[in-house]
Amino acid sequence: MAAIACKVLVLGGGPGGYVCAIRAGQLGLDTVLVEPGKLGGTCLNVGCIPSKAMIHVAEELEKTKHHAAGSRIGIRIDEPSFDLATAIAWKDGIVGKLNGGVRGLLRRAKVRILEGSGFLRDGKTCVVKSAEGEQLITAEHVVIATGSLPVSLPALPFGGHVISSSELLAMTAMPQRLAVVGGGYIGLELGIAYRKLGAEVTVIEALDRLLPHYDAELTRPVAARMGKLGIKVHLKAKALGLADTAGGLTIEQPDGTRADVPADAILVTVGRRANIDGWGLEGLQLAMNGRFVRIDEQCRTSMRNVWAIGDVTGEPMLAHRAMAQGEMVAEIMAGHRRAFDKVSVPAVCFTDPEIVSAGLSPDAARAAGIEIVTGSFPFAANGRAMTMEAEPGFVRAVARADNHLVLGLQAVGQGVSELSASFSLALEMGARLEDIAGTIHAHPTLSEAFPEAAMKALGLGLHA
Ligand code: FAD
Repeated sequence: MAAIACKVLVLGGGPGGYVCAIRAGQLGLDTVLVEPGKLGGTCLNVGCIPSKAMIHVAEELEKTKHHAAGSRIGIRIDEPSFDLATAIAWKDGIVGKLNGGVRGLLRRAKVRILEGSGFLRDGKTCVVKSAEGEQLITAEHVVIATGSLPVSLPALPFGGHVISSSELLAMTAMPQRLAVVGGGYIGLELGIAYRKLGAEVTVIEALDRLLPHYDAELTRPVAARMGKLGIKVHLKAKALGLADTAGGLTIEQPDGTRADVPADAILVTVGRRANIDGWGLEGLQLAMNGRFVRIDEQCRTSMRNVWAIGDVTGEPMLAHRAMAQGEMVAEIMAGHRRAFDKVSVPAVCFTDPEIVSAGLSPDAARAAGIEIVTGSFPFAANGRAMTMEAEPGFVRAVARADNHLVLGLQAVGQGVSELSASFSLALEMGARLEDIAGTIHAHPTLSEAFPEAAMKALGLGLHA
C-alpha cells in the first residue's frame, strides 16, 4: 500500500473541507484533501448552487409567463415555451465551472487532492480507497468534514420516483405532478421553483405551518404567494406511503382520514442527517452530540488533533458556517488564536418571497428573558419596492430595550437575501438602533427599509 505523510488531512471536499484545505495550504501546512465525489460537496454539486440556478430559471420563466398573460407594465409577449433539459445543462455547466475553480484554488494552495473514500483507522491514520487501489496517509491533524445526507422516511424509502433534492435537480423531464413531503426551506425552495417551471405541486407538512424554524410573521407572505401560485398545502398531515393508485402518495389528514395525493415524483425533504457512517467513527469513539460529532468552540473533537467542521457537527447546517469553521480550524492548526464566536450565522430561504434571518427573533429574545423593542417597515411603503412590483414583505429589527443593542434582524421580500450582509455586519459590529438609523442608505433602494425599521423601533418612523 502506497503511503503518504502530511501535516493536515482533510476528509471531505465540501465547503467546509475545501476551504479548510485551501487556508491550511496557504498558511504553509502540508495538506491532503480526500474526496470520493466531486469537489464542492453537497453545496456546489447538489445543493446551494444547483437549487439557486433552477430557482433563477423558474423566476425568469414565471416573469415571462406573467407578461404573456398581459402584465400591468405593458410588456406583451407570445406564449413562452421552456425546455427543462437545456436549463439542467446550463445548471450543470455552472457546477462544472465551479468544480474546476475549487480544484484550481486547491492546487494554487499546494493541496494534494486524493480522489477516493477515506477510512480513519485511528486519529492519525487514514486508508483511502480509490480506483487505483489503496493509499495510507498519516497526518498530525485530521479534519472531519464528511457533511450530511438526506433523511429518508421508513414508509417512503428513496428509490424509483421517491427522490431527494439531488435527484430532482438532475431530472431532465419535468414531473407533471410533484408531491413535496416536508415544508422546510429545501422543500419550499424547490416546490415553488418547480411549480413555476410547470409542475402541479402539493406540499405535505406534519406541523401546523410551513417553515416552522421561522416565526409566523416572516413566513406568512411565502404562504400567501404559494397560494397564488396554485401550490396545494396539507398541514398537520403525515405521509403514510405509496398509494395504490400509480405513483400517488397516501397521507393522513388532520382529522385522521386518509387521502391520496397524485404524484409522478415524490420529493422527500424532511431534513438532513450527519454523515457519520463508513469513515471509521466507531473506532475513534469520539464524543457525540446526539447523532452529530461533538465539537467545542474551536471545532476540536474529544480526540486531540482531530477536528470536525460543517454539517457533520450539527445545526445550523449551512455552507457559510462550514466554510467559516474550516477557515478557523486551518488557522488554529497553523498556530493562530481563534475561536468560533460569531454573533450570528445568517439563514436565507430562497423562497418567493425570500426570507433572511440573522441573530435573535423577537420570540427567541423574549424566551432568553431579554426586554426588547422591535420595529418593522413594510416594503409596501418603499418606493423602490413599488417600482419593482415587490411590495409584499417587511424588514424587522429586534433590539434590547435598555441600550438599543441590535439582537436580531429579519426580512421577507423580493431579493432580501442580499440584505443578509448588512444584517450580519450590523450584528458583528455590535450596532445599536441609532447606528443603523443614522447610516445613510442610498435612495431608492430596498435597503432603505433597514434604517426605517430601526427608526420604527426607536419610535421615530419616517415613512410608515
Ligand atoms: P458537504 O457539502 O456535505 O460535503 C461533505 C463531503 O464529504 C462530500 O463531498 C462527500 O463526498 C465527502 N465525504 C463523505 N464521506 C467521505 C469519506 N469517507 N472520505 C472522504 N470524503 C468523504 N446551505 C446554504 O448555506 N445555503 C443554501 O442556499 C443551501 N441550499 C441547499 C439546498 C439543498 C437542496 C441542499 C441539499 C443543501 C443546501 N444547503 C445550503 C446546505 C449546504 O449544502 C450544506 O450545509 C453544506 O454543503 C455543508 O458543507 P460540508 O462541507 O459540511 O458538507
